[in-house]
Amino acid sequence: MKVPLLDLTRQYQQLKDEIEPQVLSVLQSGWYILGPQVEAFEKETAGYIGSEYAVGLNSGTDALRIALSALNIDPGDEVITSAFSYFATCEVISEIGASVVFCDIDPHTFNIDPDDFARKITSKTKAVIPVHIFGQLCEMDRIMVIARDRGIPVIEDACQAIGAAGPPGKAGSIADIGTFSFFPSKNLGAVGDGGLLTTNDPDIDAIARSLRMHGTRNDRYRHETLGYNSRLDELQAAILRIKLRYLDEFNEKRRTHASAYNEIFNEIDGIEPPVELPDYKHIYHQYTVRITGGKRDAVFESLKAEEIGCAIYYKVPLHKQPAYNGKFDNIHLPVAEKAAEEVLSLPVFPEMTVEERGMVIDAVIKAVK
Ligand SMILES: *Cc1c(COP(=O)(O)O)cnc(C)c1O
Repeated sequence: MKVPLLDLTRQYQQLKDEIEPQVLSVLQSGWYILGPQVEAFEKETAGYIGSEYAVGLNSGTDALRIALSALNIDPGDEVITSAFSYFATCEVISEIGASVVFCDIDPHTFNIDPDDFARKITSKTKAVIPVHIFGQLCEMDRIMVIARDRGIPVIEDACQAIGAAGPPGKAGSIADIGTFSFFPSKNLGAVGDGGLLTTNDPDIDAIARSLRMHGTRNDRYRHETLGYNSRLDELQAAILRIKLRYLDEFNEKRRTHASAYNEIFNEIDGIEPPVELPDYKHIYHQYTVRITGGKRDAVFESLKAEEIGCAIYYKVPLHKQPAYNGKFDNIHLPVAEKAAEEVLSLPVFPEMTVEERGMVIDAVIKAVK
């Protein structure tokens, strides 16, 4: 591969001298799950995100699942979310037996369309999950007004958006609950699975802490409710604490790469660069363009042949996923369906060099011609 889509070894090499002594010290401490590193990480991320509370969990998927449990979402309830996201977002809704109601997206940002969200609300709607896709905040000011007006709790899926911001604040600090993933490829990546739930509500914080430990509170063997095993471990927390200190710098580098791409791609027919809304801070978890004119798959193949890493996030909109067995066949979400045919994500990791960026640009220009 001439330019990889992502190379995790570079960040490790850069931070090795800080990471390795911390890893050793956790190994020597004999305390491996939910200890002082996790506690410190929870305080530091809550401070970074601007939420009152943060709860370390096993994954972003678990953060979403625990968020729905904390809000008492039951079978028969409806939960509205975007049709254009990673599968985990809707999977957890279906898994607890609630009904997913898919919402269409804005053609420019790929984020949930607030007008379609408003249209999809019924008397059964018990929550909405806007997803800050690719690292840009949804129009949270509009979404919160609509949701508050109807008394609907809001869960931000900020799994791709730690550090992103918009007019109402930073991702994960705006709604009732924020959910984050530290899967290794995310902007803040662990060396295994990890996740976080944020909230300003002390009751939700206490419930999430209990749910991650099988429904226990102070007494380890007294289970007040059913729960989960979803704990963050000390090794992950120790590494994440180090990386958190570099997160703004890493996100800034992603933004620099993105604006250099934009400058060139804006002038090229057949390619539409991502749209960053005014007063928003997109942190480019992915740099996703549209390839118009029905040429996306050909461009993808030609980049592969040139050994330029690229990926299609997402090829299948959620309502068309085989797991749903045609259940949503009658539902048409034209903007999400068209996006799935046109999107292409290009390399944008912080450690990518200017030379590599140039190779990506040259290959893309050649491919769209
Ligand atoms: C990664 C991701 C998740 C799931 O996070 P995991 O830590 O992999 O469980 C959920 N939603 C979105 C939008 C994601 O990108």
